[in-house]
Amino acid sequence: MPSAARSCSCCPASGPPTTCAKSAPAWSWTAPAWARTCPITRSCPPSSLSAPDLQWHALPTPFLNQGLADPQTRAFTLLVTLVDVGSRGRIWLHSTDPRHKPAIDPAYLSDGTDIAPLVEGVRMAREFAVASPLAKVCTEELAPGPGVHTDAEVREWIRRDLGTLYHPVGACAMGGDSRLAAAKITSVVDPELRVRGVEGLRVVDASVMPAVPRGNTNAPTVAIAERAADLIIGRAPLEPVDPALEPEPLPAELA
Ligand SMILES: Cc1cc2nc3c(=O)[nH]c(=O)nc-3n(C[C@H](O)[C@H](O)[C@H](O)COP(=O)(O)OP(=O)(O)OC[C@H]3O[C@@H](n4cnc5c(N)ncnc54)[C@H](O)[C@@H]3O)c2cc1C
Repeated sequence: MPSAARSCSCCPASGPPTTCAKSAPAWSWTAPAWARTCPITRSCPPSSLSAPDLQWHALPTPFLNQGLADPQTRAFTLLVTLVDVGSRGRIWLHSTDPRHKPAIDPAYLSDGTDIAPLVEGVRMAREFAVASPLAKVCTEELAPGPGVHTDAEVREWIRRDLGTLYHPVGACAMGGDSRLAAAKITSVVDPELRVRGVEGLRVVDASVMPAVPRGNTNAPTVAIAERAADLIIGRAPLEPVDPALEPEPLPAELA
């Protein structure tokens, strides 16, 4: 790492950590086309895990090279994605020239607790594939393949082929001070998205999420943007609503 990059790493706009959701590599069997679904589950029982930590993507194709390689065979892919991510990466400036791209180290799996749920996810995926109804169409396991059995072998396979699911957040983390100070994390923006120490500047994008929100990031980004619009024009926030108590009315065609 060049020393110029290191010397810029504590700049407040680029120094705080970045977190990325990540997935085990393509988990594929030869099979007919399938619909895409993304359920969210736990890797262990609710008694030992308070909230879900895995998201599943079921794809009607082999998912090779992050989807950039053409499929060579018909296959069904189950991507095991960790959505409760402990690892924190870093993003920092290469130089003071704003035309230069920043340096990013996602530091996947640098938190030792991140790999166990992925190993468990691979085990679960193998169970799904040999159970009804998938067993009817999953005829052959393409990855990680028949040579990968023990937890140690699965861990090694995950470390070798890990990808990302494109949900980086946290480079400009929002927060109140006390909680973040306790976690030894410095927030870039305050709870109203104002950049600390800079007058008249807000950040409104996925980078203000302090952590991956246990799922995809597009809808939360839109929610942040809508809230920011209210904050900027001074509109009072809506009353909090518990969707479990006040479900939205069904559209007319479904009622
Ligand atoms: C391949 C891929 C697939 C994804 N799939 C999903 C999904 O299925 N579901 C989901 O919820 N999320 C998905 N995401 C994540 C989601 O797209 C992001 O979380 C979300 O778009 C973040 O919004 P943002 O406003 O922070 O950044 P962006 O949407 O990236 O917006 C940044 C904008 O800034 C513009 N910009 C950049 N530099 C400059 C500059 N110098 N001057 C002016 N403009 C500039 C860019 O052109 C861009 O329009 C996916 C992401 C990727 C990359």
